[in-house]
Amino acid sequence: MTSIDPQAGVAPGARTASIRAEARVSTSAIAANCEFLRSRLTGGAELCAVVKADGYGHGMEQAARAALAGGATRLAVVTVEEAAGLADLELGVPILMLAPAAPGDLAAAVATGAELTAWSPEQIHEIAVAAAPLGREVAIHVKLDTGMSRFGAKTAEETLAALDAAASSEWLRPAGVWTHFATADEPGDEFFSEQMRRFAEFAGEAKRRHPDVLAHAANSAATLREPAAHLDFVRCGIAIYGLDPFQGDAVATGLQPALTLHSYVASVRPLAAGESAGYGRRFVAQRDTRIATIPIGYGDGWRRALTNNSDVLIGGRRFAQRGTVSMDSITVDLEADSSVLPGALVTLIGTDGPERITTEDVARQIGTINYEVTCGLTARTLRRYDWG
Ligand SMILES: *Cc1c(COP(=O)(O)O)cnc(C)c1O
Repeated sequence: MTSIDPQAGVAPGARTASIRAEARVSTSAIAANCEFLRSRLTGGAELCAVVKADGYGHGMEQAARAALAGGATRLAVVTVEEAAGLADLELGVPILMLAPAAPGDLAAAVATGAELTAWSPEQIHEIAVAAAPLGREVAIHVKLDTGMSRFGAKTAEETLAALDAAASSEWLRPAGVWTHFATADEPGDEFFSEQMRRFAEFAGEAKRRHPDVLAHAANSAATLREPAAHLDFVRCGIAIYGLDPFQGDAVATGLQPALTLHSYVASVRPLAAGESAGYGRRFVAQRDTRIATIPIGYGDGWRRALTNNSDVLIGGRRFAQRGTVSMDSITVDLEADSSVLPGALVTLIGTDGPERITTEDVARQIGTINYEVTCGLTARTLRRYDWG
């Protein structure tokens, strides 16, 4: 919280804020995005909401609850800590771990009750050894590597051997078969069809041997792009947060961005022509102007690569960020005639009057993707839910 009076010197009716770096997250937008995705699903496919990495920066618990309210029937995470945190919420739906637990974490992974990923008979054996003393049956999803070359077995034979091993273990239950696409977000790419073809062939054989296993492959992009990839369930992350898997306009895709990012004007000062702002003097005023200091910086997740390379919205107007992004603040050129006063609300991602800055816009400015922008918001940025 700020120690300045946020109302000091504020024009009547101006929108004000008093939290230095604040992400406002709409859980109803997350729920609506899940409803939208479900409306697009074919063949009775279920929606598994991916809430890893603290719900892509939106908050894991809030994202999970909102996704279930929107009709998701499964949740997926990556780490044992994430699985344990979700399990503690007792949400009553299956939790899938998308990556293998480190060998030393297997017992902890089993103890969460999550469904685990494996692809070799050795891994299956190790999970069974961890499960036996806990007296727990573990659901196993075996993964075929069809082209990401990260995790999974390279051949259908190896993957099927792992599945058979799970079926013959007292402590394990074969629950799923899956793969992951490398180019789902590049419409028209042929490698996607090649991965689909390889996986379908393998999944067909897996289901002949073990009729109860569920097949899943699609991330958000594949879900939106290719109904044939929906299978038994889809694993959607980015789209449930209302962000565009294709890095375009999420609203045009039919999604509602769930997160906006705000700060406030903490200080306004004149800058005479020739004076500079920030480290390295990377902004030198060409004419007399006024500079606003906004207390959000790379320590909050507003990346340094945005230096002289982003805009902010204040009072329904767009202003250029100028000078090096510091750890704790940025400076904005208000231009000499601006009426912006301390305390004014600043929107870094979101809509203000006629102006809008999307997460995709910010990502494009620094050569990354929307995923990295929201995941990169640090713990110092307050998350506030269902504001206004
Ligand atoms: C993160 C992840 C997803 C979700 O991908 P989005 O593009 O965010 O929908 C799906 N599957 C796996 C294996 C993942 O790691």
